[in-house]
Amino acid sequence: MTASSTSTAYESASGLVHGKFRFFPVRVVATRRLGPSMVRITFAGDALREFAGGGRDQSFSLFLPQPGQHAPIVPFDAGDGWFAQWRAMPEDERAVMRSYTVRSQNRRYHEVDVDFVLHGTGSSSSGPAGPASRWAAEAVPGDRAVLLGPASEDNRSIGFQPPEGTDWVLLAADETALPAAAAILEWLPEGLRARAWIEVPDLKDTQELLSPAEADITWLIRDPLRRPGSLLAEEIGGAVFPDGAPYAWIAGESGMVRTLRRHLVGERGIDRGRVEFSGYWRLGATEEDLRTEKITEAVAQDAGEAR
Ligand SMILES: Cc1cc2nc3c(=O)[nH]c(=O)nc-3n(C[C@H](O)[C@H](O)[C@H](O)COP(=O)(O)OP(=O)(O)OC[C@H]3O[C@@H](n4cnc5c(N)ncnc54)[C@H](O)[C@@H]3O)c2cc1C
Repeated sequence: MTASSTSTAYESASGLVHGKFRFFPVRVVATRRLGPSMVRITFAGDALREFAGGGRDQSFSLFLPQPGQHAPIVPFDAGDGWFAQWRAMPEDERAVMRSYTVRSQNRRYHEVDVDFVLHGTGSSSSGPAGPASRWAAEAVPGDRAVLLGPASEDNRSIGFQPPEGTDWVLLAADETALPAAAAILEWLPEGLRARAWIEVPDLKDTQELLSPAEADITWLIRDPLRRPGSLLAEEIGGAVFPDGAPYAWIAGESGMVRTLRRHLVGERGIDRGRVEFSGYWRLGATEEDLRTEKITEAVAQDAGEAR
């Protein structure tokens, strides 16, 4: 597929995938630096009138052009077969695919805000860069991207689902999960008790977060020499929790997520059904590596079941 046939596909394809998701071609309309480690990018496009974000930690797949391309190459017309078609394309040609969170959605102007961590770029020294952080650092209005996102507010890309009877909410997030934690805090009902711990690389990365809940937010500023997430594990490990039934949501670097989940379930005795956890990235692995690992595991499992 060439860049020009992709542009035509932008206009003509329905982009529907699995009913509840679809492709949304967008352009960057604004960028705003939020701190040394993060930039907010506003995407707009007519297609976004059908974007049905459900709030909280609503995530989506972002497709970006390879260096030298002016638009990402995505199999718009493949329907449910899009992933196999995308994987079959040459790696240096197919769009870069990465996971991100809807920080907010402006339904009137068909816009979506996404906050990108700028790891490994410019003034943010935390970790190596990747294609998405590099793209975000250089994004300017007019740049093209594609979102594979929700066409229904009730979709499986929302992890934060507190059960009935939740007395208080625990949030643990590193900087990649800060956008999700911020959107969750905005979504919580008035009066519910919430304790949030958010670890960021720099004091200037802290933000004013709004919530109707009775939210107590602790910002943790990481020492650059320490492993991402280690402060979260320490602080939450030593915290006194409120009484009542908690619902915990943990997201960020996979090692931190694993450690904290173990702590909450094993040492604090929280029912595992009340602990939602998601590894957003893993130290030393690209998102492409993690995808390949999952596919290899699934193939091995299928082979095992067939035996
Ligand atoms: C459901 C979900 C929602 C997410 N939401 C957001 C979001 O809203 N905003 C956001 O910024 N990220 C978010 N992430 C994380 C993001 O997808 C990863 O950080 C991703 O690896 C970035 O892609 P990349 O191309 O920049 O780096 P990759 O090519 O994937 O990785 C390159 C290298 O950078 C390292 N790396 C990746 N991320 C970081 C980091 N934050 N700090 C230091 N080193 C890193 C990797 O370990 C690897 O060594 C989300 C992830 C998931 C699964």
